[in-house]
Amino acid sequence: MASKLIDVREYTVRAHKREIHTRVFNFVCKQCNETTKRETYGPRPLYCERCRPPQPPKKSQQSSKKAKPRPMTYTSDTNLG
Ligand SMILES: [Zn+2]
Repeated sequence: MASKLIDVREYTVRAHKREIHTRVFNFVCKQCNETTKRETYGPRPLYCERCRPPQPPKKSQQSSKKAKPRPMTYTSDTNLG
């Protein structure tokens, strides 16, 4: 029986769907210092729903259109002397 060493490469998990569940945390809000509870998918929240209301899903940021930066023309009309 022959044997040899092979290199096992690192690999990433293919994208997949996973069902996750929310948990209800009882905690003290860092801002108003009141005992509260909050349901969240992620880790333990820090703030209550009054201090940090749940964010709606982000939409495309079309409302905050930035003005185009205008090219500046510098004129050196300083006459010192
Ligand atoms: Zn709070």
